[in-house]
Amino acid sequence: MKSSYRVIVIGGGVVGTSVLYHLTKKGWTDIALLERLELTSGSTWHAAGGMHTINGDPNVAKLQQYSINLYKEIEEISGQSVGLHMTEGLMLAATPARFEWLKSIHSKGRYMGMQTEMVSLNEAERLLPLIDKTQFVGAMYDPIQGHVDPNGTTYAFSGAARKAGAEVFTHTRVLDTRQRLDGSWEVITDKGNIIAEHVINCGGLWAREVGRMVGLELPVLAMEHQYLITEDMPEVIAFNKSAGKMILHAVDFDGEIYMRQERNGMLLGTYERHGVPWSPKNTPWDFGPTLLPDALDRITDNLEVGFRHFPAFQKVGIKQIVNGPFTFAPDGNPLVGPIKGLRNYWVACGVMAGFSQGGGVGLALSNWMVDGDPGLDVWAMDVARYGNWATRAYTRAKVVENYGRRFRVRFPNEELTAARPLRTVPMHQQWLQMGAVMGDNWALESPLWFGPPGVKDVFSFHRSTDFEHVRQECLAVRNGVGISDISGFAKYEITGSGAEKWLSYLLANKLPKTGRMMLAPMLNPKGKLIGDFTVAKAADEHFFIFGTGAAEKYHLRWFDQHMPKDGSVSVRALGLNLVGLSIAGPHARAVLAKLSDDDVSNTALRFMDFRMQMEIGMVQAMVGRISFTGDLGYELWVEPQFQVALFNALWDAGQEFGMRPFGSRALMSLAREKGFGTWAREFRPIYGPFEAGLGRFVALAKGDFIGCAAAREESAQGPKRQRVGFVVDADDADAIGDEAVWCNGAVVGWITSGGYCHSSDCSYATGYVDSAFLVDAASAKWEIEILGEMRSVRLQLTPLFDPQGIRMTA
Ligand SMILES: Cc1cc2nc3c(=O)[nH]c(=O)nc-3n(C[C@H](O)[C@H](O)[C@H](O)COP(=O)(O)OP(=O)(O)OC[C@H]3O[C@@H](n4cnc5c(N)ncnc54)[C@H](O)[C@@H]3O)c2cc1C
Repeated sequence: MKSSYRVIVIGGGVVGTSVLYHLTKKGWTDIALLERLELTSGSTWHAAGGMHTINGDPNVAKLQQYSINLYKEIEEISGQSVGLHMTEGLMLAATPARFEWLKSIHSKGRYMGMQTEMVSLNEAERLLPLIDKTQFVGAMYDPIQGHVDPNGTTYAFSGAARKAGAEVFTHTRVLDTRQRLDGSWEVITDKGNIIAEHVINCGGLWAREVGRMVGLELPVLAMEHQYLITEDMPEVIAFNKSAGKMILHAVDFDGEIYMRQERNGMLLGTYERHGVPWSPKNTPWDFGPTLLPDALDRITDNLEVGFRHFPAFQKVGIKQIVNGPFTFAPDGNPLVGPIKGLRNYWVACGVMAGFSQGGGVGLALSNWMVDGDPGLDVWAMDVARYGNWATRAYTRAKVVENYGRRFRVRFPNEELTAARPLRTVPMHQQWLQMGAVMGDNWALESPLWFGPPGVKDVFSFHRSTDFEHVRQECLAVRNGVGISDISGFAKYEITGSGAEKWLSYLLANKLPKTGRMMLAPMLNPKGKLIGDFTVAKAADEHFFIFGTGAAEKYHLRWFDQHMPKDGSVSVRALGLNLVGLSIAGPHARAVLAKLSDDDVSNTALRFMDFRMQMEIGMVQAMVGRISFTGDLGYELWVEPQFQVALFNALWDAGQEFGMRPFGSRALMSLAREKGFGTWAREFRPIYGPFEAGLGRFVALAKGDFIGCAAAREESAQGPKRQRVGFVVDADDADAIGDEAVWCNGAVVGWITSGGYCHSSDCSYATGYVDSAFLVDAASAKWEIEILGEMRSVRLQLTPLFDPQGIRMTA
C-alpha cells in the first residue's frame, strides 16, 4: 500500500468496485479500494443478483440499461465470469390499476428504446407455466431481465479495474477520514494512513458510519429482506427440457413477489408490507458475511398470495431461507455525488438494486469526478435532493414506508403519508381549516387543492375527485383573484461587492437593474440547464434569487463550488425564514391598492418590478410583480411571524372581488396553459436552453458566463429537439409525464408533464420532440400514448392562454 493515492474508494461491494472500474475507464489509475474484510462482505454477497431496466424515473431506468449492458465488458476484461443469465422477464398485474401502470411503463419504455411488450394471459402462461392465469388481468414481457452471480460480478469489476492499474486492499478498515489544511484527505486505516486527493464513501451497510467520520448523517437505513429457495420443482425441470431455456424472471406486483429460477428450483423473494429496519442507529463493525435469523411469519401473507398465483409452489419444499439487510434512501433511489462543503468528498450509497444500478452509479460518479459533471441526468439519485430536514427518524419512517410499498402502485395523485407533517408554514392550520388537501413537497406541507369537508383525493390514473374543485380555483384566478402559498420556493440572498459580477458569470441572462427582476437560466459548462431562477436586484451589491425549493441543496452546492475565493460574495439560503403569499388574477391590483399607500398602478409598479419594502396592511413585505399563473399577480414575501397577518389583510380586502384560495394543482394548470415549464420536469440537465424554449433568456452577447460557448453553439446550430405543447384529445385520463410521443406512426419524443387546462377547457401536454419532425409538423399525424391508448393530439406552439402576455403586463 502506498502512502498516497489520488482516490481512495471505501468499500468493496458491487458499488465500490464499479466506481473503481469506471474511474480507471476514465483514465484515473492512481486509485485504491479499501475493504475491511473480503470483497462483497456487506449486503452484496447474499443478493439474489436479479436485474432489470424498469424504474419509475426514466433516467435511472437508462442507467439500469447501461449497467446490464456492461456485464459482458467486465467479464471480457477481467476474465472473471459474472454468471450472467439473461432469462427475460414477465411483469404480472392482478388488478386493473396495476395493469394501467404496466401500460404506462410500456409507453415510457418505447421512447427509451426498451423492447417491452404487453402480452395476453395465454402468452404469459406459455412464457411462465407456473402461473394460474385466472389470477391476473394482464402482463408485460421484458426481454432485458436476468440475474448475475453477485460474487462473480464484484470480482469482475475489481479484476477489470486492477488490470487497468487500480489497487485493492482487503482486510483494511478505514477508521477515520480527516480533511487536511491543503484540502487533501488523510485516510486512517488499521494498516496505516494514506493521503488522498479524493475520498469516496461506498460503505453500503456502513455508509452512515463512514459518513459520520466527516460529520455527515446520510439518510440511509438498512431493511431486513428475505427470499427463499425451493427444492427441485418438476415443473421447472420439464420447462427447461421442453423450452431449452431457464424459467424467466417474474414480478407479481400484487403478490409483492419476485422470482427466478435457481438450479432446478425457484428463488422467491418478497417485500412485505410491514418491513423491519436492521440496526437503525449503528451498523456493528463486527457484522460479517452472516445471515439474519429467518422470519417466515412476517411474509406468510405474501406467500399465501404467491401460492395462489403460482400453484406449483404449494407442492414443493423450501430448501433455504435467506434473510439479509440492505440499505435504502427515503425514496428508494441511490444517493450519489459530491457533498457541499466537503471538498473532494463523494458518496455512492443507498443503492438498493446494486445489480441493476451499480454500473450506472459508477459511470455517473466517475464522470462527475473526472469531468466535473455526471454527463447524465442524475437528479433522481443526487445526494443533494435531501436537505438537513432528512433526519434519522424521518429516514426511518420513509424507508419503512417505501419498502412496504415497493411493489405497490403509486398513483399520480397519491401523496404518501409517512413522516408527515414535518415542515410547515405559519399558515398551515389556517389552510387546513379552509379545506386544503395537503401535499408533501420534499417534507414541506403545501396545499394541493381546496375542497369541502370530507372530500379527499381518490387515487387514480384518471381524473379524480379534485377535478371540479381545481377547476373552480383556476376560474377564480382567471376571472377574479386567487391567493396561494408560495413559501416552498427556494430563496437566496446574495450580497457583497462581487455579487453582481459573480451572478453574471453564474447565470445565462443579463442581470436586472435595481428594483427590477429577470428570469435567468443557469447552465453547466456543457450548456445544459441546471437551474431556472427569477433574479431580483434590491440594491447595489444586493440580490435575491428565487428558484425551486426541491433543488435548494443542489443549487447551494453549485454556488459553493463556484464561490470566489476573495470573500467578495456571500450567499444565504433563506429557507422558511422567508415565507410568501401570491395573489393573482385580474383583480389582484385592486386588492393590493386597498392595502397599500404606495402607487401600485401599472406605470408605478410594472410587470417584473421589485420592491424591497412595501407596507401591506400592517405588514412590511418584499414585493415582486410576477406570477407563475401567467396572470396579473404579485408575490409577497415576509418573515414567518407576519404570514398570517398578511393573509388576513389580503383575504379581507379580497372578499369583494370573490377571492379564493388556490393550491399547487390549480397553479400548475394555469402555468401549463401559459406554456411555462418547471424544474425536474421540463428543465433538467439533459436539455439545452434553446431546446427548452428558454433561449430568449440567454444573453449570448453579454460576455462570459458558465455554459456560454455551448449555448452559442446550440443557438447557431439550432436545437436538436424542442419543447412543444400539444392539445390532447383525452378521455378521462390526461397525460402526466413520460408518455411516448408519436409522429406518423414513429416514436419521436416524450412528454414531460400534462394535465387539464381548466380555463382553456382542454387537456394539454408538453414535452420534447426531435426537431427534424417539426419541419412538416402541421401535416403530420401526432399522437400520445396514454394508459396504452393512442390519443390524437394537436401541436400547440403558442400558449393557450394570453399568448401576447397582455394579462401579465397590463
Ligand atoms: C437478501 C437480499 C437480496 C437482494 N437481491 C438483490 C437483487 O436481486 N438484485 C439487486 O440488484 N440487488 C439485490 N440486493 C441488494 C444488493 O445486495 C445491494 O444493492 C448491493 O449489495 C449494495 O452494494 P454496496 O456496494 O453499496 O454495499 P455493500 O455490499 O454493503 O458493500 C459495502 C462494503 O463496504 C465495506 N466497508 C464499509 N465500511 C468500511 C470501512 N470503514 N472500511 C473498509 N471497508 C468498509 C463493507 O465491508 C462492504 O463490503 C439484495 C440484498 C439482499 C440483502
